[in-house]
Amino acid sequence: MNLGEVGEFGLISRIAARVAPSEGVVTGIGDDAAVTAPAPGMQLLTSTDMLLEGVHFRRDWHDPYRLGRKSLAVSVSDIAAMGGIPRWALLSLALPNDLPLAFVDTFTRGFLSLAEEHGVALIGGDTCASRNGLIVSVTIMGEQAPGLIVRRSGARPGDEIWVSGTLGDAALALELLEGRLTVPRSAGTPSNYPENREENDPLLSRLLDPVPRTRAGRMLAESGLVSAMIDISDGLLADFGHIAELSAVGGSIFLDALPLSPPFRDAVQHLPDFPYHLALAGGEDYELAFTALPADRKKIADLMKTCGIDAAPVGIVTTQPDITAFTADGTHYHLPTSGFNHFIP
Ligand code: ADP
Ligand code: MG
Repeated sequence: MNLGEVGEFGLISRIAARVAPSEGVVTGIGDDAAVTAPAPGMQLLTSTDMLLEGVHFRRDWHDPYRLGRKSLAVSVSDIAAMGGIPRWALLSLALPNDLPLAFVDTFTRGFLSLAEEHGVALIGGDTCASRNGLIVSVTIMGEQAPGLIVRRSGARPGDEIWVSGTLGDAALALELLEGRLTVPRSAGTPSNYPENREENDPLLSRLLDPVPRTRAGRMLAESGLVSAMIDISDGLLADFGHIAELSAVGGSIFLDALPLSPPFRDAVQHLPDFPYHLALAGGEDYELAFTALPADRKKIADLMKTCGIDAAPVGIVTTQPDITAFTADGTHYHLPTSGFNHFIP
C-alpha cells in the first residue's frame, strides 16, 4: 500500500491509533489544537527541529524505525540540555507521494518507542505531501521549575568543562559511511562500511539511534551543581562555543581528557593521524556539555553514575574569550575543520 491509498486523514488516523492516552494530555490528536496541563508552578520549555532528507539523513542509511526515533531524540536532547522534563511533542511530516505506507508505519513505531522511553506524549502535528524528499519537523515541549532551568549563559571562569558519555562516535560512523575514511577490517569495522555495515555496529548506532541524556540533564539541573549546559549536536568546540559566547568567557580543552569509546579507539588505531577533530568538531553526539565548580567534581561524577553514564571533565572555563584545544604536551591543537554549519560549504 502507498500513501495515495490511505490519504492524509487515513494516515493521521493510523498515527493516532498508536498513541496511548497520557497523563497531562487533556485533548490529544484530533481537534484543532491539543490541550495539555503542565504541572502547577512549572515553566514551559519549547524547541523545534527539522530533519531533511539529503541534509540530515539518507533513506539508504537511515532505516525508518531508527529515523523515527532519532527525529524525536534530537528534540528530547534540547529539553535535556536545559535540565527540563520532556512532556509533549508535535510531529509534522512532508511525505513524497511514492513513500510506502510501511515506511511511515515503521517510522511512527520508532518515534513512539523513543517517546515512551522518555515520557513524551505525541499530541498532534501536520501532514502534507512533499515534492522534494521527506521532511520531518518535531516540536517538543517540556517543563521545569523556574529556578532549576539551566541556560547557556551561566558559565564562570574557573569552572570545569564536562562532557557526558563519549565523543566522536557518530562523526566517525559518518566518515566511514561517506567513504572519507577507511579503517582496516581487523579494526573490527567492515572496510566496505556502507554495504557491509552491521545493523548493531556500535559506531553506527550512535549516528542512527542517538540516546538523549534526559535523566542526566534533569538530575544535573535539579542538583544545582551546573552553571551552564548545552547538548552537543554540532561538535564540542562549536557547542561549547555557544556557552562561551553567551557566558562571555572562553575555554581550554585538553585533548587527552576527551572521552573516547572503545569502538572509536579500535577503529582509529591504525590511522596515521589521531582524528581528534572527530571528537572535537564532529556532530551528532547528543551528549551534554556543562560547566561546574572544580570542588564539585566528585559529586558530579557520582550523580552521573546514578544515571548509568560516565562523564569527564575535559577542560576549564577561562576569562580570555577564545577557545583553545591543547595536546598532551601542552601545545595548541589546530583543527583541520570546524563544526557543521548550514549554508557554509
Ligand atoms: P487542521 O486542518 O485543523 O490543521 P489537521 O487535519 O492538519 O488539522 O490535523 C488533524 C489532527 O491531526 C490535529 O489534531 C493534528 O494535530 C493531528 N495531526 C496531523 N498530522 C499529524 C502527525 N503527523 N502526527 C500527529 N498528529 C497529527
Ligand atoms: Mg493542520
